[in-house]
Amino acid sequence: MAGIIRVAVLGAGGLGRSCASIIAKKKQMKLVAICDKQGYAYLPDGLDADAINSIKIGGTVGDLDCGQRINDSIGEIIRISNEIDGIFIALPNLPNDFMFNVVKRFIIAEYKGCFVDALKRTSAMEMMFRLHGDLRQVNSTYITGCGATPGLLTAAAVIAAQSFVEIENVNIWWGVGISNWAEYKATIREDIAHLPGWTVDTALSMSDKEVEELLDKTNGLLELHEMEHADDLLLERVSVVDSRDKVTVGGIMDTRNAKKPVSTTMTLTGITFDGKRSSHKFILGDETNMAANVVGPALGYLKRALWLNQHQIYGLYGSTEFMPCVVN
Ligand code: NAD
Repeated sequence: MAGIIRVAVLGAGGLGRSCASIIAKKKQMKLVAICDKQGYAYLPDGLDADAINSIKIGGTVGDLDCGQRINDSIGEIIRISNEIDGIFIALPNLPNDFMFNVVKRFIIAEYKGCFVDALKRTSAMEMMFRLHGDLRQVNSTYITGCGATPGLLTAAAVIAAQSFVEIENVNIWWGVGISNWAEYKATIREDIAHLPGWTVDTALSMSDKEVEELLDKTNGLLELHEMEHADDLLLERVSVVDSRDKVTVGGIMDTRNAKKPVSTTMTLTGITFDGKRSSHKFILGDETNMAANVVGPALGYLKRALWLNQHQIYGLYGSTEFMPCVVN
């Protein structure tokens, strides 16, 4: 792959900022653009990750030396998109069609490049797949579901499935610890939307104070079961499972402690050709945090999307359909 990959990240929250820090350690990528709700920053030589990370929560990248406060910051990124090879969408997906509509704007502007996201909900990803034809038409390549779950753990399930002739179930049980919920507001709101009695719309309408009150009642913990996670759709697409209900996702989020409350595991159970029932288990190291396990795969898949694009493979694909590359 010739040249350094010029990356833009949409969203400068927990994941967007971590993305800046991770790219700063890479030789094959540079972060040229970033935006948040209040502004954007663009520097063709590469943005300073420390400066991005020194912005206080609630501040904006628009206040950086190379930044600008502006209402439609995504519009500004679209305006300079000829200078961008690949985009990591680290925006909240609230409402459920938010990212879908953002991608549509890039298509209308005929952006020819690559995208990845860390989208979580099955219904949101189903919507995304409807953009396949339009993305092909403009010669763009998009890989969806490139975070940890879906993403890293789902791709591991595809590898694990190879030992079996029949897959009985795939179970993902994640543990995430963050020291302050405000660093990852969208992630927490989207998780709350999975609690019994909550929806995407009711979670979106919560004020920060209401989120804090809810977390006070649970001592900062959220335990989630039977989440609507697109791991099911992504594994069905590549025939790991013949029915989505064989995939279950749940986990525990501690919003007051950076230590993981439980280890994150992906367990795939199946039957071998000689009739043995067994399970493969993939366990993430407890020291690896959410940002490492989401942004790392997202960037690996972004490099893969560029490779596909260079081989004239356009359209929208799932993270289970290709291996991520390693970014040096
Ligand atoms: P966050 O709330 O910390 O940050 C979101 C950022 O988007 C903020 O900078 C905000 O200003 C910006 N933003 C919001 N609306 C905007 C707009 N209209 N224009 C420009 N910028 C806008 O979010 P986060 O916690 O970093 O999460 C980002 C996404 O990643 C969420 O959708 C979350 O669900 C997803 N996620 C996926 C996984 C996974 O494993 N698949 C894990 C964690 C998070």
